[in-house]
Amino acid sequence: MAVSVFDLFSIGIGPSSSHTVGPMRAALMFADGLRAAGALGDTARVRTELFGSLGATGHGHGSDKAVLLGLEGERPEDIDTDSVPSRVAAIRETGRLRLLGSHPIAFTEDTDLVMHRRKSLPLHPNGMTFVAWSADGTELSSRTYYSVGGGFVLDENAADGPVISADTTPVPFPFRTAADLLAHCASSGKTIAQVMLANELVWRTAAEVRSGLLAIWQVMQDCVARGCEQEGVLPGGLRVPRRAKALHDKLLAESGEGDPLYVMDWVSLFALAVNEENASGGRVVTAPTNGAAGIIPAVLHYYTRFLSVANDDGVVDFLLTAAAIGVVLKETGSISGAEVGCQGEVGSACAMAAAGLTAVLGGSVAQVENAAEIGLEHHLGLTCDPVGGLVQIPCIERNAVGSTKAINASRMALRGDGTHVVHLDKVIKTMRETGNDMHTKYKETARGGLALNVIEC
Ligand code: SF4
Repeated sequence: MAVSVFDLFSIGIGPSSSHTVGPMRAALMFADGLRAAGALGDTARVRTELFGSLGATGHGHGSDKAVLLGLEGERPEDIDTDSVPSRVAAIRETGRLRLLGSHPIAFTEDTDLVMHRRKSLPLHPNGMTFVAWSADGTELSSRTYYSVGGGFVLDENAADGPVISADTTPVPFPFRTAADLLAHCASSGKTIAQVMLANELVWRTAAEVRSGLLAIWQVMQDCVARGCEQEGVLPGGLRVPRRAKALHDKLLAESGEGDPLYVMDWVSLFALAVNEENASGGRVVTAPTNGAAGIIPAVLHYYTRFLSVANDDGVVDFLLTAAAIGVVLKETGSISGAEVGCQGEVGSACAMAAAGLTAVLGGSVAQVENAAEIGLEHHLGLTCDPVGGLVQIPCIERNAVGSTKAINASRMALRGDGTHVVHLDKVIKTMRETGNDMHTKYKETARGGLALNVIEC
């Protein structure tokens, strides 16, 4: 299966790729399916059921809103994020929603949008079923989807294997593991970014890849800029204050002279800004998930703002390299907090950012792999226990820490010669196995760890 850099980096809506972006896409797929089958006009009622982690933390992650807007035909990449609260309120107040924006049906929250807090579907923790009926009660369609992380959605038939994309386009350098990737680099003389680009050219031209990635980078910059302007508390009831603006103002007022770690405060700021935007349902780039969306933009901002070698070519190479590592993580590990805990989200993003930074600072292929390995290794075992089921505590600060860790991992790799004892593939295998052994309460259910203790306090 072939995965594009634009699958790993997609423009979406906060706060969660698996719990907001995925459900919105699944709901839209279901509504599109009704139209394709000629059943849209006959549909009088649609019931959605969310299972497993989606049912447990769906309210905090905005899964319910995402489903309603997906049924109305909205897509995460271009929905007007400012309109979401009023649109959802209108559906709830009027008891009507418009399928694909055109066909009105009745909507009753209690019966038409069911969140199962302790029931799961068999193939993945993030399962959803949709059923449509006609006015006389005839079932018109019934589908099950799984949101498998990073906004990827699979229907039931595709989710029983390590499938991450239905795209079977042959690519010149197919790879699943880091060993495959490094072997392609060795045999072709290409860098990791060049291997990824060669594969990308089966879908689009080099100019399209470049402009698409620079557009992704622009959305990341817009997200940081917006995050640095907002004040107040984040939605959801925890009353977590937004910190990015105050920190931004402070850093601007300081020169940083005499403080060798001043730059690190900026890196933390960039990540805080993105994740506060994400937590408030704003426009973010899923990279490779929303919960961990701050790390790659923060490290890219570090590269472009503080390193004199930075340019647009470097940004493109950074993203291609990071995406190649993301493909390996997704193919052989997981980028889903509901599957393996936060090691799969923040750990994966850290590994990807460390690899991208090392590549654009002149690291060899071996040093890039080493940086990714360091970035992931020191997140092994990290649980996912978001307080209140919201992507706020510990997620926002965790992105700031993950960003500085990525820079640290890159610097350690660049100071070495690329040789190291533990290969990236072994660390990914360990992440997967650790995730399998991890108790469900630590995998995006908000039933353990910080989620429990903070609430008890
Ligand atoms: S704790 Fe980590 S995996 Fe869990 S929601 Fe937060 S960022 Fe995502």
